Amino acid sequence: MPREPASLPRMNDPEIHQAAPARTALTIAGSDPTGGAGLQADLQVFRSLGVHGMGVLTAMTVQDSEKVHQVLPAFPSVVLDQLRALLRDVTPNAVKIGMLATDDILRNVLLGLGELSLDQGGHAVPVVIDPVLNASDGSFLLERRAWPALRGMCQRAALVTPNLPEAEILCETDTSTRRGAEAAARAMVEEMGAHAALVKGGHREADCDDVLAIEADAGTQIHWLEGQRVDVGRVHGTGCALSSAITARMALGDDVLTAVNAGRSFVALGIAGSVSLGRGARFLGAH
Ligand code: PLP
Repeated sequence: MPREPASLPRMNDPEIHQAAPARTALTIAGSDPTGGAGLQADLQVFRSLGVHGMGVLTAMTVQDSEKVHQVLPAFPSVVLDQLRALLRDVTPNAVKIGMLATDDILRNVLLGLGELSLDQGGHAVPVVIDPVLNASDGSFLLERRAWPALRGMCQRAALVTPNLPEAEILCETDTSTRRGAEAAARAMVEEMGAHAALVKGGHREADCDDVLAIEADAGTQIHWLEGQRVDVGRVHGTGCALSSAITARMALGDDVLTAVNAGRSFVALGIAGSVSLGRGARFLGAH
């Protein structure tokens, strides 16, 4: 009879049950078969930060490490059904919204999230929105006619995490300078109604600092967060990993500034340890 390796815990070992994560995070996102971005990447990030990951799929993509070849949006009604069935059963501790593909899907996600106003303790469940518009190869991941509704969705957000081109489109303002990026972050809080906005500086030539605006009683707080460019070449899915790491930390109870700092360190480490698995972009290293 084959024998179990001595190092494996037995199924009735109480430590197995204690090790199960008690906190949950939900990602509403598109599929990336490479695992470098999208729903597959988000779930890996959640797990590595000790949070149980759940996923509602909004679109299939055909892609490899070089480019996105095809996007096939899910039926909007099925996105809503997935959310309804899940949220009637489990209340996540935090939610991340990534690729939404179409206006109809975006609206159904808003409808579905209507059922999630409070967790069991009576607190609002934080929603982090990564306003994914294009892949870095230029492919559309959200149709243009959905942009106005995406602006409206920001009202629902504990945090919005656009890069500079996304912030420029959402706020209709030039974000090429530090001053412009700060104005966009502020506008997302003061005009669009998000509780916080992190405008990522990676696309700026002079420096790559991020700017975080947080709603506060005494006026919007602005935090400039210093970034360091690590020249390893193109790394796939850094935006997805950042927003999902922040979401996981919020699910664990961090406030937005603590979660953002933790998420940035998580991604910086992943970039430093990034690996080349295919012919194109690198993938974040596991840690
Ligand atoms: N595919 C999916 C499903 C995504 O959600 C994203 C980004 O959010 C991408 C691809 C693009 O990743 P990258 O910007 O690294 O090309």
